[in-house]
Amino acid sequence: MLILGSGNNIIMVKKISKYLNRYGAKITILTVFLTALYTLFEHFNYNYLLISLIAGWIMYGLSMIVNHRYMSHSVFEAKNKFVLYLMYSWVVLFGSGSPLSWAYSHRLHHIYTDVPPDPQSPKTVGYIKTFFAWPSNSTKFKSKFVRDLIQNKEVMFVHTYYYTFFFSYLILLMIFSPILFGYVCLSISFSYSLLGILNTWAHSGNSIKSIPLPILLFGEENHAYHHTSVAASRVVNTSQWDLQGVIIKNFLAKSDSLSYRKAKLK
Ligand SMILES: [Zn+2]
Ligand SMILES: [Zn+2]
Repeated sequence: MLILGSGNNIIMVKKISKYLNRYGAKITILTVFLTALYTLFEHFNYNYLLISLIAGWIMYGLSMIVNHRYMSHSVFEAKNKFVLYLMYSWVVLFGSGSPLSWAYSHRLHHIYTDVPPDPQSPKTVGYIKTFFAWPSNSTKFKSKFVRDLIQNKEVMFVHTYYYTFFFSYLILLMIFSPILFGYVCLSISFSYSLLGILNTWAHSGNSIKSIPLPILLFGEENHAYHHTSVAASRVVNTSQWDLQGVIIKNFLAKSDSLSYRKAKLK
């Protein structure tokens, strides 16, 4: 009976997770942005605001290390299992999105830049969708673009239960402290906004732009260079201000797994 019961529970959790994966991205965006606005109007505090913006900037930087550099472009190999699981926990706690969904969307963006079916360009899906684009977990993935990730059991586990973990965490936070929940939503909204600024600004106009905000974008400002080749998309030290590169080199990567930008920036 116990085994049957636990089996039923697992089936139920899987069904809930599948449902959440279908709507999770939209629910997340609505929840965090509306909660952030409500918190600013009803519980405004300068110190909390400053801390949550700094936290949001760090969340954005660490999320980009995992979902952009590590998952989408295989820029480095994790130093050990502890680092790997730490990075998985970041994508859940910071609401960064499932690594599989994120990498799928972003790899399509690199292959079909600014033409259909690029899902991350104002030229194909418009500015608003590009700004808020948080890849849906219910997409039917063409496996040739993400074969390495689909074959990775850990990535698939995080993907399957992503919104179950993330929403459980948000609910616990809300029960523990509604104000903290509100300011965490503000941090997450700010981290989404930084990515939104990067994706919309860099792909506005006739050619891919670099953006003059290197510190704010945590070293992702040189987007034109990033798109020049597969090799360019896989280097650390994308610029002299590559804060992600500093963290990757010093704390996260096996040093022999790194390739560097040629010329002056080595
Ligand atoms: Zn791009
Ligand atoms: Zn990229």
